[in-house]
Amino acid sequence: MFTGIELRVAGRQSVSLATHYRRSMFTGIKLRVALAALDFAERHPRFVRYFLRPLANAPLLSGLLPVLPRAYMGATAFEIHDVDVEKGRISIGGVDEVLFGSEIVEILHHVLGEAAGEEKERYLYEIGYQAGFKEATYALEKGRWAPKILVPLVTSAGLIDRVRCDNRMARFLDHVENMVARLILNEGGWGRIAEFDYRSRPIRVTLLYSQEAAWLPPSDQPVCHIFAGLVAGHVSAVSGERLEAREVACVAAGAEACVFEIDR
Ligand SMILES: [Zn+2]
Repeated sequence: MFTGIELRVAGRQSVSLATHYRRSMFTGIKLRVALAALDFAERHPRFVRYFLRPLANAPLLSGLLPVLPRAYMGATAFEIHDVDVEKGRISIGGVDEVLFGSEIVEILHHVLGEAAGEEKERYLYEIGYQAGFKEATYALEKGRWAPKILVPLVTSAGLIDRVRCDNRMARFLDHVENMVARLILNEGGWGRIAEFDYRSRPIRVTLLYSQEAAWLPPSDQPVCHIFAGLVAGHVSAVSGERLEAREVACVAAGAEACVFEIDR
């Protein structure tokens, strides 16, 4: 027989279970609708290019839409950037950026090689990691990248384990990460992401035309340490746990593409 305290605890648990059930049902519906929309855009590139993209860049509507819906509609990073010529600022979704010539990659490798010797690779990776982690964190904090209703789908603790046992969630994240990669990496001059695969274990990222490999001489070891850190930092910020990336094939070492594996 329940005492008064036990009844209150039992009552709270049943409310909490019902709330949990409603939340997970709502999440399932959101996920199905978002996936259907993303699959549709992938199957109809002409509809995106000729109908959605002009809408995404229409003067009034573009100011109301967050970054990722505009990217979904086909807008490029160049169209989505805000430029304040008066103050000398450029930003995307509230995240300020500065532009360097791509030789900064070679300069970082050279200067850190002189200063840190064998520790160079670790420092380059950590610079990339912190840059990727902070950029993704700021983007999420600004609240201008994804509609609020979808944010819990693209970032949450335990995301990696969820993705590994939920194929729909993995497909959704593949879509979102490929969209983010296009905006930040491809259109940011790092090379072209051919694959951002949350379904593989470890997570697999394939980069064509690596800018980092292009600046460095041929090597018998992978050389894209900054980029490895960048993707590790980004995925860590999204998943809420520190993950590490390892470059397992590199153009500088004779491979056709640079391949990164990301895991705990
Ligand atoms: Zn490489």
